[in-house]
Amino acid sequence: MTSPSAAQQARQQARQQARQQARQRAAELCDLLTKASYDYYIRDRPTLADAAYDRLFRELQAIEQEHPELRGDDSPTQRVGATPAESFAKHEHLVPMGSLANAFDDDEVTAWYERAVKIAGTAVDSAGFSAELKIDGAAIALTYRDGVLVSGATRGNGRVGEVVTANLRTIRDIPLRLQGTAPPLIEVRGEVYFPFSAFERLNAERTQRGEPVFANPRNSAAGSLRQLDPAETAKRPLRFFGYAIAVPGGGGLFRTQSELLGALSTWGIPIAPHRRRCATLAEVHAHADQIEHTLRAELDFGIDGMVVKVESTAVQAELGDIGGREPRWAIARKFAADIAETTLLAIEVNVGRTGKINPYAVLAPVEVGGTTVRFATLHNFDLIRQKDLRVGDVVQIKRAGDVIPQVIGAVADQRDATVPHTAIPSRCPACDTPVRVEEKDLFCDNDRCPGRRLEAIVHFASKGAMDIDGLSYARVEQFIGAELVHDVADLYALTADQLATLDRFANKSAVALVAAIATSRQQPLSRLLFGLGIRHVGQEAALALARRFGTLDGLTGDLVHEEGDGPGGASFEAVESVHGVGPAIAESVVRYFRDPAVRALLTRLRRYGLRLDEPAQAQTSTAFAGKTVVITGTLPTLSRNDAKQRVLAAGGKVTDSVSKATSVVVVGDDAGSKLDKAKSLGVETIDEAELLRRLGGQ
Ligand code: NAD
Repeated sequence: MTSPSAAQQARQQARQQARQQARQRAAELCDLLTKASYDYYIRDRPTLADAAYDRLFRELQAIEQEHPELRGDDSPTQRVGATPAESFAKHEHLVPMGSLANAFDDDEVTAWYERAVKIAGTAVDSAGFSAELKIDGAAIALTYRDGVLVSGATRGNGRVGEVVTANLRTIRDIPLRLQGTAPPLIEVRGEVYFPFSAFERLNAERTQRGEPVFANPRNSAAGSLRQLDPAETAKRPLRFFGYAIAVPGGGGLFRTQSELLGALSTWGIPIAPHRRRCATLAEVHAHADQIEHTLRAELDFGIDGMVVKVESTAVQAELGDIGGREPRWAIARKFAADIAETTLLAIEVNVGRTGKINPYAVLAPVEVGGTTVRFATLHNFDLIRQKDLRVGDVVQIKRAGDVIPQVIGAVADQRDATVPHTAIPSRCPACDTPVRVEEKDLFCDNDRCPGRRLEAIVHFASKGAMDIDGLSYARVEQFIGAELVHDVADLYALTADQLATLDRFANKSAVALVAAIATSRQQPLSRLLFGLGIRHVGQEAALALARRFGTLDGLTGDLVHEEGDGPGGASFEAVESVHGVGPAIAESVVRYFRDPAVRALLTRLRRYGLRLDEPAQAQTSTAFAGKTVVITGTLPTLSRNDAKQRVLAAGGKVTDSVSKATSVVVVGDDAGSKLDKAKSLGVETIDEAELLRRLGGQ
């Protein structure tokens, strides 16, 4: 026998070293993931972002695939959830509750499909696929005996869950008795979730009571379910969607997943919207795309993907599962996370046009929900105090759909404790005037504060107001800096020659901007009233006032003449009596128009030739009769649902997608593909202000 050559020895050594490194890394990952799972499932307080967890999980899976000997039974890749907590009674599931394998793009879904075809052949396609929203909540199993809810449990470790029946009974979506005829013993499975709207309301109430706010809807849903006192759970408006069943022996009651969901629905179990039966994989990909980029933004609850299931239950049975953990017949097509972690670099403030001092977070750039986020709103200093945010913290950022990015909170255990608490300013950062505290907000009361002036002019030029194309934030800053503009009336005195002398201003854009400013003189009175930024006067109130009084003189006549000897204008009572204008708005309007500085401003605007009346309106209640309307993007003041309800009330129909049959597309900020499509089809597009005008302020 010859002794191994030096080269062979070196190779062997390298292999040993690689194995050693893999073992070390696998052990490290097991520890990390086990701790993270405990924080996530048992404490309901995650210490890692989901995307980070998924990345580490995949790394461990890859190591174990290469070195199967490292895959222990206790590896996080072999387990579902976490061991139930001691404080709860235990429930053994009729059939284990698994997890799902993940696919992070279309190719990975295709690879899953190809694996399934290798096992079950083309039968995989026979009945198509069920594509369902992947609800980001907490998985539960409800046991119904003879149609009556007898127990409810969490998924736990997949075999044994925690009994939380009393808590589940408080959820109004969960029927205590099934309707129609159901099998004598059945587990209905699904997801308990916390709607965004309810979650935000609850957090606002908690802030008001001085209680700490909840981190995110998913963990609050899970935490609420696992309360020891059902009265606590009852205070949290949780909801439920069902998507699966289990019966003793696991027998196939239905031929397809669609039939199963249909049955759940007839039994009175709520089913998540936007489910689609897809005949082909291409349809599956298209539906995932539509959910991720369009529908997701409109949902009032969190989803983290779309679940694709083979429709045929016979094929499902043939495909079976992998180690009891994941079925082969389904896959979770995950979406880009709408929650990410990054570092809070600074807390800065801007002064709003009403003088409100708004803190915001400057962040290390991070990808969230498909875009790079650098800033996030912090609302007010009370919230900063509640969340104890400090510069340098690792924070979680949320960006759901079109919503402005928000800071959820600092990641526990990742703080440099020596960093001091964030100080609350006592003076306006723009003009050094002492701040006024009103409830949770800080205000600068200096009317001439440069910070306020900037915001006021930007607001005047904004889409819902005078809609001056090209007058960006940076431009207004530039004009104020060059002392060309001190108030909104100065805009109308700008000339192209003046602008062309400024930095970064080509002749052509100077001419275009001056033309856009001139065009804005034709905007109706309602837009001017909104654009002036009168406290409490939003678009609707502005429209109601403009419609009621018709002209600026009609509105301001009496108000501007304190003795009431004006040329027949409105009185305080007349303003207050306008539908949609309460005493607070009326008082603010009166105070505004009595200010001599405002009167001087209006005189100048009149001199510049602004249109100061409101065009007469056609019949209002049928403004959209026979019209099909699509609403897209973030509207400045109305929620999408609000806008939809109003269009419906005016006889219109609201649909999700733009086609040749669409009459009008209402476009808000960040409108994406729908706007492009409308343009390519030549469909009319309008903004919110125009929508409100057509609706007649109803
Ligand atoms: P999962 O969330 O990736 O997918 C499986 C679950 O999806 C099912 O158990 C079910 O509850 C749910 N689901 C929602 N809608 C469904 C539908 N229509 N049909 C079928 N199932 C549906 O898997 P998991 O095992 O619950 O959790 C693993 C995931 O949880 C990880 O990918 C990670 O994102 C997250 N996690 C995060 C941490 C952390 O520290 N941040 C720790 C542990 C787990």
